[in-house]
Amino acid sequence: MPARSADAWTDSLASLAQRPKGDIEDSGEGDSCRMKASEATTLYVERACDRLGLNKDLRQLLATPRREVQVEIPVEMDDGRLETLIGYRVQHNNYRGPMKGGLRYHHEVDLDEVRSLASLMTWKTAVVNLPYGGAKGGVCVENSKLSHTEKERITRKFVDQIHDIIGPYTDIPAPDMGTNAEVMAWFRNQYEKYHGFNPAVITGKPVELYGAEGREEATGRGVGILAFKLLKRLGKHPPEIRVALQGFGNVGFHAAKLLHESEFNVVAVSDVTGGYYQPDGLDIPDALRFSLQNRSLHGYENAQRISNEELLELDVDILIPAALGGVITKDNAKNIRAPIIIEAANAPIDPEADDILHEKGTIVLPDILANAGGVTVSYFEWVQNLQYYKWGLNRVRQELDSVLSRAFEEVWQLAQDKSVSLRTAAFMLALERVYRAGVLSGF
Ligand code: NAD
Repeated sequence: MPARSADAWTDSLASLAQRPKGDIEDSGEGDSCRMKASEATTLYVERACDRLGLNKDLRQLLATPRREVQVEIPVEMDDGRLETLIGYRVQHNNYRGPMKGGLRYHHEVDLDEVRSLASLMTWKTAVVNLPYGGAKGGVCVENSKLSHTEKERITRKFVDQIHDIIGPYTDIPAPDMGTNAEVMAWFRNQYEKYHGFNPAVITGKPVELYGAEGREEATGRGVGILAFKLLKRLGKHPPEIRVALQGFGNVGFHAAKLLHESEFNVVAVSDVTGGYYQPDGLDIPDALRFSLQNRSLHGYENAQRISNEELLELDVDILIPAALGGVITKDNAKNIRAPIIIEAANAPIDPEADDILHEKGTIVLPDILANAGGVTVSYFEWVQNLQYYKWGLNRVRQELDSVLSRAFEEVWQLAQDKSVSLRTAAFMLALERVYRAGVLSGF
């Protein structure tokens, strides 16, 4: 990809490691849209099954998790109270390899949610052809109210309960909503008390403790790589392309950085404080620097203020929702002017809206491919841990580019061959890989 020269501001990106939340493998979906996201996954899986002509028995097999575990986590809180929390781990499918998926600490975590997110991980790892299956886990707890020490105690107790069913060749957790590299470090430490030295049991660890270089930027970087591939297929060039990006957290920040370095014209960005728009193009290094210094875009003055709703409807070439799920609904879908949408967030488009956009001819690069950069670099971390060998950042970036580019080409080709949307093609590719692995190995 063509790159602008690195400026001094890129150095300050290291400080992003201080962000309270970040390199999650896959948080599943936006906070307010959990049910919609799981219903959407079921619908898209069904549509792909129809296209593949899978019979009822196979559908049932692919939908059923291998194992669902619910455990009691008794924890002493800082004020001396004893709280009994509930933790979950759902292992959805392992036909293609050990199961992989995040650990979420959130007060709305329940078995249904974890089950649906575990299945999403099976399809996500399959579409980018990682040798993994899918899993997910979590603890139902008001994460924002936990002290540092309470969180550590919960993590260690949770490991005490599930260490027998996870492992580097069985099921490899990672960060998700409410958990981070530090939680992964505690998790590994507690697991090793039972099983000895085993850094590959979990990914998303601190770089100093067997974590991977480039893990934190991976999802946003993946979005940029895929935008570039898509444009190439459409015969367009980045400098002609105006981009609007919703969300300036881990994913949006790194996506904006790479898009700018690749000479896209990013005209609008936003965070929870609203949208920031400059019709001729934003000064992205300036916006990145501002958000690092202030931990938000609030008060950024080198742009016009717009709302997050207005940002979605801007007259741009690419729209990248990278914040919440369910932001494009049947109510605003007809107003979306961007001919290309890249789903950096999980499930930013409701299924009804997806149908409206498809009718309009909008090209949608689906979330299971668009935001798979994070789990891909988690895979690289696992590979390095198993080999006791550390890759440099350049190698991580090159391998990420190669995995995502190949997956993109496969999805693109299938969509052309079968005359289906990129979303249906992505699910078809994933489902076919999973059931073929099952058939070949005899379930
Ligand atoms: P984050 O918490 O780091 O950032 C979220 C951003 O969205 C912040 O800029 C926040 O201000 C903004 N935001 C919050 N509420 C908003 C609102 N109402 N309107 C507009 N913006 C709002 O989260 P993230 O890690 O960047 O994840 C973003 C999305 O990408 C989520 O849907 C997540 O599930 C998905 N995702 C993330 C990863 C990853 O590796 N981080 C991997 C796969 C999928």
